[in-house]
Amino acid sequence: MIVFAKNIITMDAGRRIIRDGYIRITDGVISSVGERSSLGDTGNEQILDASGLTLLPGFIQPHIHLCQTLFRGMADNLELLDWLQLRIFPYENAHSKSSLRVSARLGINELLKGGTTTILDMGTLRHQEVIFEELTASGMRAFAGKCMMDENTLYPAFRNDTRAEMEETYSLAKEFHFKNPRIGYGFAPRFALSCSNALLKETAELQKDFPESILHTHASENKSEIEEVRRRYGKENIDYLDSTGMLTGKSVLAHCIHLNDNEIKTLKERNSAVCHCPSSNLKLSSGIANIPRYLKEGIKVSIGADGAPCNNNLSALIEGRLAALIQKPLHGPLSMDAFTVLKLMTIDGAAALGIDGVTGSIETGKKADFILINLNTYNKSVYDSDESIYSGLIYSGGDADVEFTFVDGNCVYQKDVKEVYDQAELLSEAKMELKSLLNRV
Ligand SMILES: [Zn+2]
Repeated sequence: MIVFAKNIITMDAGRRIIRDGYIRITDGVISSVGERSSLGDTGNEQILDASGLTLLPGFIQPHIHLCQTLFRGMADNLELLDWLQLRIFPYENAHSKSSLRVSARLGINELLKGGTTTILDMGTLRHQEVIFEELTASGMRAFAGKCMMDENTLYPAFRNDTRAEMEETYSLAKEFHFKNPRIGYGFAPRFALSCSNALLKETAELQKDFPESILHTHASENKSEIEEVRRRYGKENIDYLDSTGMLTGKSVLAHCIHLNDNEIKTLKERNSAVCHCPSSNLKLSSGIANIPRYLKEGIKVSIGADGAPCNNNLSALIEGRLAALIQKPLHGPLSMDAFTVLKLMTIDGAAALGIDGVTGSIETGKKADFILINLNTYNKSVYDSDESIYSGLIYSGGDADVEFTFVDGNCVYQKDVKEVYDQAELLSEAKMELKSLLNRV
């Protein structure tokens, strides 16, 4: 298949934007990319003529909670620990297989509609196989894993024994890690306060048995959280996680807002990735991560929407715009320009997951994970400089502008034509599921 586009934002090392370009897709892989004028005879190849649209790599969000999509709007105006104790832990604890399934489907529909092609999902304590089933069926690329919790002083009913957690995690990783080529395992101890020292250490060891898998946790999101880690373990949070072996080149740490100089140094030395979640960090009154500094230090950074009840969107474009804007009053107008933000949303997100050789840019040999977006609405990108194209996308673009989403060369979303799940049906199912879930809380 050949796709024609007005502009192709490649996000390759040369930062190339190809005007009036094309990509050719063979067996789900980009087999050539260039200017339309350089394309020879197309024979009877299938053509998608999107010559009014801009083509770019799909967005990569390495911190998502599909299990929480059902709880959007039900946990506003709370700080992290209250948010968990009063709402999120009770709700997640009440999930049945069917409520979890509808929650995952709602999240997947929303993500694909907004141009996200790859996620790292934090999972939940029970019924994790449902999330794997839904991700597999969706056509999306993902890492996911059961959320591990063997301690919970905030809501004691929502935890499991250490041994059971380790065994269940092992068997899920064995069952799902790259059994489908799009779906890898992301080991997911929730955060330092919900995991014993033994669980963190054993999980870090177990991850090594599954090549190309990810270690995924929350870190240093909230001041009360890091105070409690200090009280329990006598260490700063990042130092504590490091002492368990949780910080490696395969680790993705969501948030990382409150770090001291030494912790920043440790992150860099371990080559661990940060997933910046600015909406969630503002909404839960957590703070603003010093992303410009992390980038200057050479720390891997990516951007994720976190969960629907702390955002309350799953939109990569909303997250990207906010990631650019919140740093400017603190670090000046030159910090976090539109290109830098798009890099974090695409190729750097892939690097955080160790799949930047596979996806994250529009280059020959990479998987055909891309979106087609309309930047012609209003005058989002009339002035045709490269800067204006990045600017139109990051500062003015929205989910409604996304016309097509492709993963592995397959169209998984087309505006007004195709969605993975019927949204109206999903919503009526969600209403029923939520009603019975609330009876179980
Ligand atoms: Zn989270």
